[in-house]
Order: sequence, then C-alpha cells, then structure tokens
Amino acid sequence: MFRRLAPSLRPAARCLSSGSVDVTAPLNFWAGKRWKASRDECVKESVYEPATGRVFCRFEPCGAAEVDQAVEAAKSAFGHWSKMSGMERAKVMMEAARLVESRREAIAELEVVNNGKSITEARLDVDSARLCIEYYAGLAGTLAGQHVQLSGGSFAYTRREPLGVCVGIGAWNYPFQIAAWKSAPALACGNSMVFKPSPVTPVTAAVLAELYAEAGAPEGLLNVVQGGPDTGSLLCRHPDVAKVSFTGSVPTGKKIMAMASEGVKPVTLELGGKSPLLIFEDSDVENAVKGALMANFLSQGQVCSNGTRVFVHKDILPRFVEEVVKRTLAIKIGDPLLETTRMGALVSRPHLEKVLSFVDQAKKEGATVLCGGDAFVPSDPKLRGGYYMTPCVLGDCTDEMTCVKEEIFGPVMSVLSFESEEEALRRANDSALGLAAGVFTRDVRRAHRVVERLKAGSCFINNYNITPVEVPFGGFKMSGIGRENGRVAIEFYSQMKTVFVEMGDVDSLF
Ligand code: NAD
Repeated sequence: MFRRLAPSLRPAARCLSSGSVDVTAPLNFWAGKRWKASRDECVKESVYEPATGRVFCRFEPCGAAEVDQAVEAAKSAFGHWSKMSGMERAKVMMEAARLVESRREAIAELEVVNNGKSITEARLDVDSARLCIEYYAGLAGTLAGQHVQLSGGSFAYTRREPLGVCVGIGAWNYPFQIAAWKSAPALACGNSMVFKPSPVTPVTAAVLAELYAEAGAPEGLLNVVQGGPDTGSLLCRHPDVAKVSFTGSVPTGKKIMAMASEGVKPVTLELGGKSPLLIFEDSDVENAVKGALMANFLSQGQVCSNGTRVFVHKDILPRFVEEVVKRTLAIKIGDPLLETTRMGALVSRPHLEKVLSFVDQAKKEGATVLCGGDAFVPSDPKLRGGYYMTPCVLGDCTDEMTCVKEEIFGPVMSVLSFESEEEALRRANDSALGLAAGVFTRDVRRAHRVVERLKAGSCFINNYNITPVEVPFGGFKMSGIGRENGRVAIEFYSQMKTVFVEMGDVDSLF
C-alpha cells in the first residue's frame, strides 16, 4: 500500500523514501480499494503543497454514482461490523492504531506536504489520531445498556445501538486528526462511515481508511470520497445516511444542519470560534505569554479554538506586550519539514491573502501592528512560491474592530486591555461564538468563578489549546452542537433502544 513518493514531490529536508505514500494513486477509497471518480465530464482538482506553491497531486471529485457506491459499501460493512462484539471491534481498532503508529513519520510528512504545518505539529496530530482510536477501542467493549426492574417480575432493559452509515465531513486544518476523531467513536459504536475531507487537503484521510482495511476491518467500514460542497451535499442528503458529523465554518454548518433536517438526521457540528483569553494582573506572566502564543500561533493560527481576543489587565499590559512581541519575533518561519521550523505555510494562496487583508483592515481601523503581519518570502528558492506570513500581534485593539469580531483563522493575535473582572467577562462573552476560552490567574477562586461565567464549551485555566482525547471538546452558541472526544461522544454516535418485558399476563382494559 505504501509506495515510493511521487517523483514530482519536492525533495524534502529529510529522506522520504521509506514508508511513504504514493500520491499518484486515486484518493477515493471505498469497499477496501482506491477508486477513480469515473464521470466523463469530471474536471480534476489540483492539490497544492503550501510550502512551495506547486501542485503535488490531483483528484476527481465524486458525483452521485460514486457517493452511492461508497454509501453502499458502508451499508454492507455495517451489516457485519454492527453484529460483532465490542471486544471484537476493539481488536481491529487497536491494530489500526498500531499501524498508524508504525507509519507515524510517513503520515506526518504527507500532512506537512499537503497542509503546510510544521513537522513537529504534524507528528502530534498523528499521535492524537492514534490515541483517539486507542481510546475508543478501549470503550468499545464497555458499551452497555441498563436493566430496570418493574413490578410482578417484569422488567425493562436498554440497548445502546449504532445508528448505521455515518458521514464525516472535515476541514483542512487537521486533515488526518479530524478523520480519526470522527471515525473512531463512530466505529467503536458499531457504525460504518463515509468521510469527505476538505478538497484542499484530501490526501491523508485515504491513508487512514487504508490502514483500517489493512487492520482487518470489513470492506467498506471506513470509506473516503473526495470533493467539495456538491459531494458533501450528496452525502448529507443521501437517504441511507443516518448521521452527519461536520467540522468547518459556521455558514457551512448551517447548510449541513438544514440538509440533515430534511431527513431528520442528527448532526454533530464543530464550527468556528473567536475565543477570548483573559490574563489577570496576578498571572504568572511568563506562563501567560506562553499560553497566548499557544492560543494563537499553532498551525499558523488556523485552529478553531484559538484564543485570538487576548484581554490583558492594564497593570501588566506593557510587560506582557514586550514579552509576547519578543517571543513572536523569534518564531522560526520556513520549510515545515525542518525540525527547527515552528511556523510553516498557510494552507492556500487565497487564504493567505484573506488573512493579510484582515491585518490591513485592522490598521485602517486604528490597531497598531506590534510585529509581523507581512507576507514572508523564505530565502530558499524552492520555497519562494509558498504561502508564508510573519506572525502578527495587534495592539490598541477595541471590541468593535473587525480583527476582534471576526474569525481570521491565521496567525494574528489581537491584544485588548481591561480593568476589572466584571468588564473582562462582559466583553469576553460578547460574541455569537463560544467554542473556547482561557483564564490566566494565580487566584484559584477567581479562576473557577470566571470559568463558570464564560460562555464557551472548552475552557482552559492557566494553559491553552490542550485537547487530550479523553476530554470532551465542542462549542456553545454558534460554535456547534454535540461533542467530540471523551466518553460523551458515544452518545452522539449511538441510539438507545428501550425494551419492556412482561413476565405476567396482559392486564387489558378492553
Ligand atoms: P468550510 O466550511 O469551508 O468547509 C468544511 C468542509 O465542508 C469541507 O470539506 C467542504 O468541502 C465541506 N462543504 C462546504 N460546503 C458544503 C456543503 N454545502 N455541503 C456539504 N459540505 C460542504 O471550512 P474550512 O474552510 O474547510 O475550515 C475552516 C473552518 O473550520 C473555520 O471556521 C474553523 O473554525 C472551522 N473548524 C472548526 C473546528 C472545531 O472543532 N470546532 C475544527 C477545525 C476547523
């Protein structure tokens, strides 16, 4: 399955010759094999390497015929998989996790080539995917119902049953991790899945599906179809699809919900954020600065939960700003395949331009650029066509500015000053979104008091952007519905059946 990397790929800083993936293979995967979309009129989509700007592979978006085939394969696998015991499913999943671990480097490198993030972060993403599969494999054998004693020896019991064919639709910022975070709980519950990655980053989801097949999963258990909105709509509206789990933007999330509502299908929505990070005057400033950097610059700032509205108490503002700017200027930008790089390339040229235009808009609206915010051209000629920018810290921000209101999804931190806890809370909660929030303080009572009042699904005290797979993750307000990770995700990928058992005679009124 893993073949030599396509020769068209940029020779990377490391040797990619062993354990790499053939990116010339079709990127669709169903019924245990890779497939080309077979429509005559089909136009191939180009996939870019953000680090260099060159096209490194192409794919054909799936139409109705391909979506039908993938759903049919998933239906067939569901027949076998849902009848297996949790322990039997766990065995296959643990083997898939082992295979992910054994191909960690190849998958991480492929993710870097397709997404532009640093190899250091890509390895952590692969680890998170593997841990998620292991976690839900561990839960698969524990799924159980309840027994309820009724009068006269009669009783009832509940069964936790799978939903059927689930659809996963992913964003481009964590391509492999999102595919794993969606499929692992779904499969643990006995469902099968058809996953559609973002057309911007289509490559690694197919690798995950292949690894499940290699691990002994029934053919069609995890399938991958490629395409954009049209393919996604076909999946959401497909009559044989029981549930849609989506990660992406708020506008698309609304459309997904509307389409799913036509079939009264449950949805999980992991949407955007504009999260606040509150740094109080009694914080450990060194840690608060590190937290603010983690809250803004991971994955070139393309993280849904980023704490991009950094509220700093006025008493520590000068010290905080000095330190945050110093550290931001020291971030090494460049070839994401190099071990020393901490910031790679943004995902695409249009996205880079959009992020840079947010910086221009911020300047026009009166924010001060404390550092960064410019397009960056690496000295290495191979990287000149890549989509780089210098990480940006904006000062003198106010709540009305576009940079403070809208999700930028790039390495742009907006720093705001506050004077009181009450004021900070009011301003932090003044958003239609509510994915995450953070608090830095040494006062344990303040930390919990503030967190209780923050309207966000994932809150951090004295840290930021930590996502262990055993902890639920998801948003309040327009940031989403449902949760991923943790035990609770089981409830979003299964349904409860109640069974009444009469041990006596029927006491009929008629
Ligand atoms: P997007 O909404 O443009 O696309 C996401 C996915 O939806 C893609 O696979 C796309 O092809 C598909 N899609 C688009 N239109 C569709 C339609 N009409 N029907 C079905 N599918 C459709 O988002 P993006 O630009 O890929 O990702 C960035 C966004 O994702 C940001 O807003 C970010 O905050 C959010 N995000 C959220 C989380 C989270 O866990 N909350 C995680 C990562 C990203």
